[in-house]
Amino acid sequence: MRIVLLGPPGAGKGTQAARLAERAGVAHVATGDLFRANQERGTELGKQAKSYMDTGALVPDDVTTRMVLERFKESDAADGFVLDGFPRTIPQAEALDAALAAAGQAIDQALLIEVDREELVRRLAGRWICRACQTPYHERSAPPAKPGVCDACGGELYQRDDDRPEVVGARLETYEKQTGPLAGYYERQGKLARIDGLGGIDAVAEKLGRAVGGRAAVAAAHVKVE
Ligand code: AMP
Repeated sequence: MRIVLLGPPGAGKGTQAARLAERAGVAHVATGDLFRANQERGTELGKQAKSYMDTGALVPDDVTTRMVLERFKESDAADGFVLDGFPRTIPQAEALDAALAAAGQAIDQALLIEVDREELVRRLAGRWICRACQTPYHERSAPPAKPGVCDACGGELYQRDDDRPEVVGARLETYEKQTGPLAGYYERQGKLARIDGLGGIDAVAEKLGRAVGGRAAVAAAHVKVE
């Protein structure tokens, strides 16, 4: 299973990608998480990414794509992955397709989670993330059992610098200009499913699960006929 999860910042990609990946037994690969983990460790890559992330801009394609292809070499990605936050530009999508094709593989499906701007701003303003395991919370709609403490691992929760209102506008604009065209890219490949991202976490997870299940059933029928 090789899935791309598309959607603007705050659409719920992280939460839903983690669930989908766990259910399917494949890797959850989140480029934003990888960059933040590098920053925590003080690596050169983390330092390089920070200046872009702080302003809501994208990290250059070559740096990002190289990091993702390295991540694919880890054992948990052997049977597939759910990509969260990658690709974010057409050149990234093309580089991903080329790398997979070289290994005789391809993306199975791209799922686009759609949420209106007003709701995105509300979600990002109330978002808290675990510093250790990256699990996201929302102070009203998905609060942790104990304020400031991660339910999953006991880690410290914090608010991302780039979730400040000054940066959120720039991130949404970056998304519209640079990532928006990816919907057409995957639509032309016949791989795009659009999912309404409003509603609770379970409801959206169910819609995503149905989209993935439907596609898998069609693929299985093809194999049977052939
Ligand atoms: P996210 O956690 O997905 O919201 O990503 C946080 C930030 O990391 C973004 O605003 C970008 O600066 C950077 N980033 C994450 N994924 C990518 C990507 N695929 N291409 C370029 N920059 C990225």
